[in-house]
Amino acid sequence: MAEQEVLILRSGRYLDSAKIVTFFSREGGLGTGFARGATSRDNRFGASLEPLTRSRLSLRRGTLAGLARILHADVIASYPRIRTDYDRLVWAGLIVRFLLGFLPESHPEPSLFALACGALDRLDGRVGPPAAVWEGFARQALALLGWGIPAAVCRRCGRTGGEKEEREEAESHYFRASDGAVFCRSCRLAEGGGELWGVEAEVLNALSRNGGSVDEDVLSPGPGPLLRERLAFLDRVIGEHLPRWTPVAELTFVGSAISGFDGDRKLPPPRSEDEEVDPNGGGEHDQRT
Ligand SMILES: [Zn+2]
Repeated sequence: MAEQEVLILRSGRYLDSAKIVTFFSREGGLGTGFARGATSRDNRFGASLEPLTRSRLSLRRGTLAGLARILHADVIASYPRIRTDYDRLVWAGLIVRFLLGFLPESHPEPSLFALACGALDRLDGRVGPPAAVWEGFARQALALLGWGIPAAVCRRCGRTGGEKEEREEAESHYFRASDGAVFCRSCRLAEGGGELWGVEAEVLNALSRNGGSVDEDVLSPGPGPLLRERLAFLDRVIGEHLPRWTPVAELTFVGSAISGFDGDRKLPPPRSEDEEVDPNGGGEHDQRT
């Protein structure tokens, strides 16, 4: 028997009276387990295995079709304020979909686990705009996975953003997603291979700040006007690795949350407190085998 601290990402009914749960474990990475007698969310065992719950599980390895059996679970954090705020739930759902899409099976990613928990704590604590929490999470999570976004420095000539001759053009640099290389406007013509995306130097530089601890840096409001461009660029990078990724701007009223962050605040319609929403958004379910 082993104890693991986990974030529940997804759960569903299994057979008549069991629940099958996909979780992100600090100790073991992405895993799946089943629990008998946990089908009702009214009982404590069931509640501790609901998506978007941080719990401590007692597991017994490989008892059914190779799945771990969850014997016992204690809630560490249930993020009640995310659950009752549809806006925050949608942003938290992006984090869940990101983890389900990117995490390899059974490979520990303790830094990413800490980052995800830090971002959910901030969404739940209503610390700052949710769009900024998502941006900070996505930027740092990509870096932890080896797909960090580089600063606007041309790989060939070393030209950085903001130089005089580049200022006329909004898209001063070009990013190649296949290897994460960046080129300036002049050098991109000499680079034959791979699709190049035009991007503003300021967007790259804002997204490339990989330093800082999770606590200090998961929230990175930055300047407002380019937030939409930064989120769109993150979407594009994520979509390169997860083809079924739904861009942030396509999620209902996340658009208004972004325009609100730009200073044009439109509040989403009020939601009843007990409305149930699937934090997985019904979207990304990349099954790895
Ligand atoms: Zn160059």
